[in-house]
Amino acid sequence: MSSSKTFASQADLEAKKVSFTKLSENAYAYTAEGDPNTGVIVGDDAVMVIDTQATPVMAQDVIRRIREVTDKPIKYVVLSHYHAVRVLGASGYEPEQIIASRDTFDLIVERGEQDKASEIGRFPRLFQAVESVPPGMTWPTITFSGRMSLWLGKLEVQLIQLGRGHTKGDTVAWLPEQKILFSGDLVEFDATPYAGDAYFSDWPQTLDNIAAMQPRALVPGRGAALTTPEQVAAGLKGTRDFIRDVYASVQAGVAAGQDLNAVYKATLSQLKPKYGHWVIFDHCMPFDVTRAFDEATAYRDPRIWTAERDVEMWKALEG
Ligand SMILES: [Zn+2]
Repeated sequence: MSSSKTFASQADLEAKKVSFTKLSENAYAYTAEGDPNTGVIVGDDAVMVIDTQATPVMAQDVIRRIREVTDKPIKYVVLSHYHAVRVLGASGYEPEQIIASRDTFDLIVERGEQDKASEIGRFPRLFQAVESVPPGMTWPTITFSGRMSLWLGKLEVQLIQLGRGHTKGDTVAWLPEQKILFSGDLVEFDATPYAGDAYFSDWPQTLDNIAAMQPRALVPGRGAALTTPEQVAAGLKGTRDFIRDVYASVQAGVAAGQDLNAVYKATLSQLKPKYGHWVIFDHCMPFDVTRAFDEATAYRDPRIWTAERDVEMWKALEG
């Protein structure tokens, strides 16, 4: 890194404490104090993992937890979206199938390589033993559009696209009989939503679509598992409020003719009192405001982040 100002995340080096929380006879949440979560579904004849951790070596810790509760084979890996920190551990599970939405597949084709380089550069701590990641991309072996069901024996798991939000391809996993939902990064809890590849105008409606399913428990992308309907509602509200507050502030700045730098400073100072205590707040805000500014001006779809664009943006806003 030639820049004198590094990303906020590059100074974030403290290891987090992992929890493996049982939500039902079939559902578990692997969470780590705001680091990326992994969902686990144990069916009659197989195990499904939802989001993989960032590297195959990190996946081994998830497998260790799974082996404490079942010896059934891990057949399925579901990618809730394309971000490297969610997918690059996939090979560690040696799954039979890797499942993602067609929209997520398209994003891997379009921007997977750039995203991988950019994410590893932004947040080295999250890519423990990064040398264990195989070269190239993690390719889904099954894609779907809209909705699909898998039966792990008698247990139905639905994979559903409820709308755009964190990315174009967001997929939730849903246990309809138990009303347990794995949201990926569509919902965060006590953690700042990353919105650098987001659709701000669509995200609140997608959260309303989750709420309409009335989950009794929800595993967010980051933060503790939400184990009661009240906690689920709080997680949905916190995420929705943050996305709306960022976008409202950016839209107001754009309407007043301000440039990105001015909009960033105003939005940061407006949001810090309410959300500044959430993990990765300082890391996410420059990316989130830049994307919101793009969406409010010229770019309906998120522009591709590259390692170079990351550094330029950071220098412009934080340098
Ligand atoms: Zn993500």
